[in-house]
Order: sequence, then C-alpha cells, then structure tokens
Amino acid sequence: MLSVAENLFNIKQSLGKEIMLVAVSKTKPAAQIMEAYEAGQRDFGENKVQELEQKAQELPQDIKWHMIGHLQSNKVKYIAPFVELIHSVDKLKLLMEINKRALQNDRHIKVLLQVYIAKEESKFGLSEEELIDLLDSENYASMNSIKVVGLMGMATFTDDKEQVKNEFSYLKSLFDRVKLQFFKSDPDFTVLSMGMSGDYPTAIEAGSNMVRIGSSIFGER
Ligand SMILES: *Cc1c(COP(=O)(O)O)cnc(C)c1O
Repeated sequence: MLSVAENLFNIKQSLGKEIMLVAVSKTKPAAQIMEAYEAGQRDFGENKVQELEQKAQELPQDIKWHMIGHLQSNKVKYIAPFVELIHSVDKLKLLMEINKRALQNDRHIKVLLQVYIAKEESKFGLSEEELIDLLDSENYASMNSIKVVGLMGMATFTDDKEQVKNEFSYLKSLFDRVKLQFFKSDPDFTVLSMGMSGDYPTAIEAGSNMVRIGSSIFGER
C-alpha cells in the first residue's frame, strides 16, 4: 500500500497545475493529515462541523479548512471565524446566517452554491430554478459579508460513466450561464468544485477546476 504522501504526489501529478486539490480528511486522524501537510498539502475538507472545529484547533494554523458537507444554519457560528470556503450552501437562509456570522467575525466568507445534479434522493443542492431565484433575490443583493465564488455539485454514485459525464457537463454549462448572467464583471466567480476519488477524471474532462479527494489519498473509510 502506498503512503499518504505517495498517493498525494501521484494525484497531484495527474491533476496538473490549474486544478485545485482539496484533500478530504473526514474520519481520518490528525497524524494522517500531518503526513499530507508535511508533503505540502494545505487545503483540507471536512463534512462535519464538530470534527472540523476540533481538527482546526489541533492542527497547524496555516491549514485552509473547507466545509464540504451538509451544513445546518445553527452550526455556522462554530466555523465562521476561520473557515476558508463553504462548498455546500443550498439555501438562502443558510447563506443569510453565514453572512451574519461573517459580519460578527469581521471577515468575508467565501462560499459555493451547491447544485443538485444527481439522480439520488440522498444528495443535497439547489435546482437550477432555485439557484437563479436566489441570485435574483433582494436578500442576496443585500449581503455584503459573503462572497459567492462558484458552484459545487456531486454526481450520481454509479459505474455509468456516460451519466456521470452528462451530470458534470450540465453543471459546467450552468456555471458558464450563471457567470454570464450574474457575475460578468466579478473576477472572483471562478470555482467549479466537482469530482471525488471515483469520478474526478470525468469531472475534470467536463470542466472542473477544484476536486475533493478523500479515499484515494487517505485510504478507504
Ligand atoms: C467524502 C466526500 C468527498 C470525498 O470522497 P472520496 O470518495 O473519499 O474521495 C468529496 N465530497 C464530499 C461532499 C464528500 O462528502
């Protein structure tokens, strides 16, 4: 079995420079995160607030922590002081809470809007219509402490590569349309977060520029 550092090296080689790698460390101990850290990795993703908060306290301060899992409004306050990017914003109400907590912490918080692209009940995200309505809303226009920097999506968990590719391609086309319609003069709307261990080559082919990879780096959970 390869080490964390070797896995990381191999994946980084295959990604090239333009693709940002978020190492998904959920359920993995601090010692393994430190192996990746010592190999140069700084961006890590977690999907539970409590675990994220605890690891952030314990591990080096220059780690950039990404919240990638479903987030409840009442937990935003715990990560608002330090979180680098929240990938999983799927409601206006959640965005408003993030804005409020960012303001309280005297910072801006970067977020991605999560879009539902899979054919699975268990996955979260906005529909295309909900996404457009959110970006069109007065509430959205009034928020000054959040920064929407892109979109995130998760494809269906299936061996059907064609289906996965179609789902990712759809999100890429939606990203391009939304950028034109709402972020034309905003240089920060650049991130398309899609792709995990099982499907990231397909996601990159479809236009992803941020991948969230866990098991291929740290081993199965
Ligand atoms: C766990 C998780 C990942 C990483 O999954 P792997 O298959 O281990 O690479 C990516 N994105 C989200 C939202 C996750 O919850």
